[in-house]
Order: sequence, then C-alpha cells, then structure tokens
Amino acid sequence: MEEYRPLEKYYRTYTYMLKKRFGQNVIRVSLDGGFSCPNRDGTKGIGGCIFCDNSSFSPVSSIPNPIKTQIHYVMEHLKHPEKYAGFIAYFQPFTNTYAPVDKLRKIYYEAIEEEGCLGLALGTRPDCVPEDVLTLLEEINEKYFVTVELGLQSVYNESLKFINRGHTFEDFVDAANRAKKHGLTVAAHIILGIPGETKEMMLRSCEVISNLPIDILKIHQLQIVKDTKLEQIYNETHFKVWDIEEYSDFITDFVEYLRDGLYIQRLFSRSVSGNIVAPRWNVKLLTDTIMQKFQEKDTRQGKKFKM
Ligand code: SF4
Repeated sequence: MEEYRPLEKYYRTYTYMLKKRFGQNVIRVSLDGGFSCPNRDGTKGIGGCIFCDNSSFSPVSSIPNPIKTQIHYVMEHLKHPEKYAGFIAYFQPFTNTYAPVDKLRKIYYEAIEEEGCLGLALGTRPDCVPEDVLTLLEEINEKYFVTVELGLQSVYNESLKFINRGHTFEDFVDAANRAKKHGLTVAAHIILGIPGETKEMMLRSCEVISNLPIDILKIHQLQIVKDTKLEQIYNETHFKVWDIEEYSDFITDFVEYLRDGLYIQRLFSRSVSGNIVAPRWNVKLLTDTIMQKFQEKDTRQGKKFKM
C-alpha cells in the first residue's frame, strides 16, 4: 500500500479516515458470507449486471469456510500485525444483506465477535437494505464501525438500465437516506466509462454525487471481464475503453469537482485477475501517471466543487 500514500496530498483517502478514527492503520479482511444476489437468482433479474464476473458466481449460495476460519487465515498471515489497530470485517462478494435478518445477525456477529474486530463493511445493492436490516446494523454500530457500501455505478438511469442493474438512481437515494437515518456510514461505488456516458456527463455527475448523503466514494474504471454480457457487447461494438493516460487525465479532473469532505476509497480498481479482457493496466504506471497529473495541474479534490 505504501506507493499510494503520496496521493493523500491530493484527495481525502479512506485510509486517512480510518487512521483518524482508530489512531493507526486498519486492515479490511474480505469475507465470503455465502450470499447470493437478487439480480441473478430471478428475484430482480436473471442475467445480473452485464459486467458481473460469472465465473465467481454460483447460482446456489456457495458454502465458504466458516467466518472465523477466514478471519484467522488473513490475520495469521499478516507480515506486521503490530502496525494495525485491528480489522474491519468486509463482506464483499455478491449482496451481503440479502438474507433474512436472523441469518444476517448470526453471520455478522460471528465476524465482529472475533478478537481485533473494529467494524463491519457490507457490499450490497440499494434495493436490499430493508428497515429490519438497517435496525440490526444500527444496533451493531453502537459498538462497531459499520459501513454500508451501496452499488450506485451511475447517476444516470439510462446507464443503470444498460448495465442491467435492476434498480434506479432514486432507489439509491432512498437507501442512502435511510441508512444515514440509522446513523450508519455510507459508501457509494461508481463506474467510470459506461458506454453512452460522455466525459461531460461523468463530470456533471460529480455535483450529484457530492450532494448525496454519503461519506465514502469508491471509483472503478469500467473493466471488461471474460464471459460476461459486457464482453459480448465489447466484441460486437468495439466501444472505447480507457487507456492509462486518458484515465489519469480524467480522474484528476473528476476529483476536482468532488466535495472536499468526501473520503475516496479508491480512484481505480486494482484487480489483476486473469479474467480481465480490457483494460489491462500496470498499476504502478497508472499510480505514477495519476500522481504526475495531479502535480502538473497543481490541483486537488474539491478545487472546482461548487455548492
Ligand atoms: S449486484 Fe453485484 S453480484 Fe449482483 S449481478 Fe450485479 S455485480 Fe453481480
């Protein structure tokens, strides 16, 4: 992670947010709670989002190792455990609030009751956070730091339709507002480069995003994964994907238009999976190029944000 630190000068990082809160670095332990997704099991849809990695999805909930085992595995392999104040249990794959509340309680408590747990982060969809789940999370949030990570992907409903999200922008606003009412920390995930969205449209979305009731933003470049519907469209239409130079130039503009108080968890996806068809980037080169752009433009987050 060291090579990303210098970027903290240019935007408010999530790492800094955690450090401020816990006084030291905190590690996120990715956990598989064995959840499924309503956009794949037929409840909302069958095909799922067009970019979703089919190979990592089983139509029936997978049976992962016990939560405890998953946590111990990561914590026991940490090179310098003394550097960390503790860990955040991050339920990552699929929709991590998609189960009856009693089942969720059991799974979440298995994680937070492990020694060193400081918080819970849940990747989920805006249409999967009913009131009983938020009430459970509010209860957990009294002692642990709970973040609900809601997939937004785009503020444009036509884009959400194109990527087959099965929810609208308005669903996101509703979910984020309700999560905030329950006192939770809210993160939004967005994707830059969805076909049909121009750079102007993406820059305009900064104003909308900045006015959302969210604390954290996680930005991904559009990635084409093997054996997805998106790959099929890419092969048929040859739509343009970002290269390092163009993305670095754009992301540094994008950040200028975001409100200063928003913590940015990531500026790009660092996935190096062999399943990525395009774009295939050298992450070190990307980081260096982004840094260089920030320096050349002499800019930082919020510089062009208007209330
Ligand atoms: S909501 Fe997430 S898990 Fe479900 S189909 Fe979309 S990307 Fe895949």
